Amino acid sequence: MSRLVVVSNRVPVPEKGGAAASAGGLAVALLAALQERGGIWMGWSGKSSGDNEPGPLSLEEQGKITFALTDLTEKDVDEYYFGFANRVLWPICHYRLDLAEYGRKEMAGYFRVNRFFAHRLAPLLKPDDTIWIHDYHLIPLAAELRQMGVKNRIGFFHHIPWPPADVLAAMPVHEEIMRGLAAYDLVGFQTDHDLENFAGCLRREEMGDALGDGRFNSGDKIFKGGVYGIGIETEAFAKFARKAVSHAMVHKAKESIIGRDLIIGVDRLDYSKGLTQRIDAFERFVLNNPAHQRNVTYLQVTPKSRSEVPEYEQMQRTVAEQAGRVNGALGTVDWVPIRYINRSLSRPILAGLYRLAKVGLVTPLRDGMNLVAKEYVAAQNPDDPGVLVLSRFAGAARELKGALLVNPYDIVGTANAIARALNMPLEERQERWQRMMDYLLEHDVSRWCDDFLNDLAA
Ligand code: UDP
Repeated sequence: MSRLVVVSNRVPVPEKGGAAASAGGLAVALLAALQERGGIWMGWSGKSSGDNEPGPLSLEEQGKITFALTDLTEKDVDEYYFGFANRVLWPICHYRLDLAEYGRKEMAGYFRVNRFFAHRLAPLLKPDDTIWIHDYHLIPLAAELRQMGVKNRIGFFHHIPWPPADVLAAMPVHEEIMRGLAAYDLVGFQTDHDLENFAGCLRREEMGDALGDGRFNSGDKIFKGGVYGIGIETEAFAKFARKAVSHAMVHKAKESIIGRDLIIGVDRLDYSKGLTQRIDAFERFVLNNPAHQRNVTYLQVTPKSRSEVPEYEQMQRTVAEQAGRVNGALGTVDWVPIRYINRSLSRPILAGLYRLAKVGLVTPLRDGMNLVAKEYVAAQNPDDPGVLVLSRFAGAARELKGALLVNPYDIVGTANAIARALNMPLEERQERWQRMMDYLLEHDVSRWCDDFLNDLAA
């Protein structure tokens, strides 16, 4: 088996002797693959070197894995990360043309940093290494490596949605981005819809076409594209949830909702997550269902993210004001309908909170997969499982057939689904949950990793 080289924007370097519980499923799966085969995980340290050129790569060995981190200049961070990745590619891939702030300076910074990554990575490579690059920050990396003469197998996984041709074409450098993907041997997407959109983009821009058997051509390149929906560590997560009652915070939460049904939402503060529509739907649900009034608590856990980006800073105010307005309008002296918290919680604690909740409310306007939906299912008590209310626009909706699917733009429809979830008989809840849990046990994150790497090797 060849050595594995993983490249991603940020690298989850495990703390020496630290518990693995805090790492997400993706990190756990990739670390396991790296540990098995030996290899390197390279990425940005998260630190800025200010105006100075970044120093040499910082290398840290842990077992068979070498972590290779580089700083970036402040200008690089502004242009590559905040500018192009998060203000152009992120909104475009989430179908938000209205929020894309395209600028030539940022675009140039994005390609420059990808070239810089290639120059720093190339000296570490051995001829038969398999290289696996992750996510929208690093699309042009393979093309840059190829220009330097790197002949290794290189795969790319796109963790977020891929938009339809008309949306992508609004981004001035879309052809360059598409050509960047054609430089890989294998490009993985979360769902069949994303892969179809990608094939549609090639055709519409007359840049290439599907050749059958998952192969595509573009220019003189032939490469493979495939669907690999990312999973979670299903069994480990279910175990966290079973054990979570011993956490003081979960215990307190349980005490505080005695006699009330808990509805839970967990999302980074991001415009793709549909938070304002969700709060509207919850309000509508309460107004339309007086029998549930005062018997229900909606807990929304929303850590702040990307606060340096203006759209996100603005959103912090909008959502907080909205939650406050609904609490003011509906609340009583002994009932606060929405508990809105901007803190990040550890995954074992989240597992316990998911298990307490009768309804998992996951209603993004657009999401590559949405791992919270999968974690909510894995955390349930099989004897009395809760119901997942899931946006049809999350990648997870292609897989979790036991969820109540909603259109998050349809406020009344989502409100009705909340009511249906809370009133659902035990037998139907169990039948829906079992279907989803069987799927998640079979398609966990280790399988995702193996499937991708096997196809890349084939
Ligand atoms: N998460 C967490 N603490 C929090 C909120 C979220 O650890 O306070 C984790 C959550 O358990 C999940 C991930 O962050 O594993 C979010 O992944 P998802 O695919 O749902 O959304 P993303 O943030 O990647 O868009």
